[in-house]
Amino acid sequence: MRLPSWEIGHALGIPIRVHASWFLVFLLVTWSLSTGYLPDNLPGLSPERYWAMGAVAAVLLFFSVLLHELGHSYVALHYRIPIEQITLFIFGGVAHMRREAPSPKAEFLIAVAGPIVSLAIGGTCFLFVIMAESLQQQQGLQGVIMLGALLGIVNVQLGLFNMIPGFPLDGGRVLRAGLWAWGKDFYRATKQAAVVGLTFGGILGFVGLVIAYRAASGDLPASMMSNGGWIVFIGMFLFAAAQASRRQAVVRQSLASIPIRNLMVTTVVSIPAQCTLDEAVNRYFQAYGYGGFPVLAEGRLVGLVTVSEVQAVAPSFWAWRRVDQVMRPVSESLMIAPEAPVIHAMERMARGGWDRLVVMQDGEVVGLVTQSAIVQVLRLRSSSGR
Ligand SMILES: [Zn+2]
Repeated sequence: MRLPSWEIGHALGIPIRVHASWFLVFLLVTWSLSTGYLPDNLPGLSPERYWAMGAVAAVLLFFSVLLHELGHSYVALHYRIPIEQITLFIFGGVAHMRREAPSPKAEFLIAVAGPIVSLAIGGTCFLFVIMAESLQQQQGLQGVIMLGALLGIVNVQLGLFNMIPGFPLDGGRVLRAGLWAWGKDFYRATKQAAVVGLTFGGILGFVGLVIAYRAASGDLPASMMSNGGWIVFIGMFLFAAAQASRRQAVVRQSLASIPIRNLMVTTVVSIPAQCTLDEAVNRYFQAYGYGGFPVLAEGRLVGLVTVSEVQAVAPSFWAWRRVDQVMRPVSESLMIAPEAPVIHAMERMARGGWDRLVVMQDGEVVGLVTQSAIVQVLRLRSSSGR
């Protein structure tokens, strides 16, 4: 099931998106505050007042989660890791980083930044509550104190829960950074941290079930029932996320061990730079059926031309435009060495928006590696269970 999400603005240059599932949390939080927490702790107000306060609190919680993610993002950007977007969804937030941290130290600092922000917000809220309580005389401050205390508790919980050492939670990332620094193997560290994540997911699920069972059988107050259910839910989510991370690490590890040489095409046909697009289409694209060709001028690689560059020019101009006028000019990001692991080619393609790279050795074109060839290998590997 794929629910939609909406972009609501930017922070630190990163698009902020809200997933449809987040609105469920918003309603749930507003409802439980305005019908339970607020009337219990602050009796004597009108229902409208409770609902308004509940909604304000839910929005403030939203900003708490957002600031937590911006904490991770700020440090990640410091390490020049591009961040695609921050998504807020039913279980909190995720900052989507385009690549992995460059070192265990960077991984550690990025991971702890989120919980540090949450704990700092929590601390500030409690400080505010203490200060406001010393000014108790004024009426009307009671509601603000209530919200401040709530925000403080939630932020401290957010900080502490995320420090559970199960990958992919922040604490699990800290654990991975440690294992990575210790064993010098990123993928093995990821798999080990993910196993701890699976374990914690399982424990949370079990604890949640026990709470829900005891609430149902009367050993615990019936109101604990939903808490138990929620813990089971979070445990299942952590378990599934850890499982996915472990699988991904296994695939990436195998891609890190295969050299480009093993899956590159070696019968490379090149197009001369002076060729017109008409000739290129008739004598190369249609004749060979390939999606792209390296472009050579005086035996040297000068660029790469693919179907999309040709398509960008109207066919009536094909007789007058030359290949070197539309090609993507050669750059470091377009080339790769035959000994490089496949995972490097994937990263380079993702970064440059290429679907193929030219394999170069000693200044000569020795092959081409395409995205579809990599996808084939991935399929074969996953179907054989390796
Ligand atoms: Zn976090």
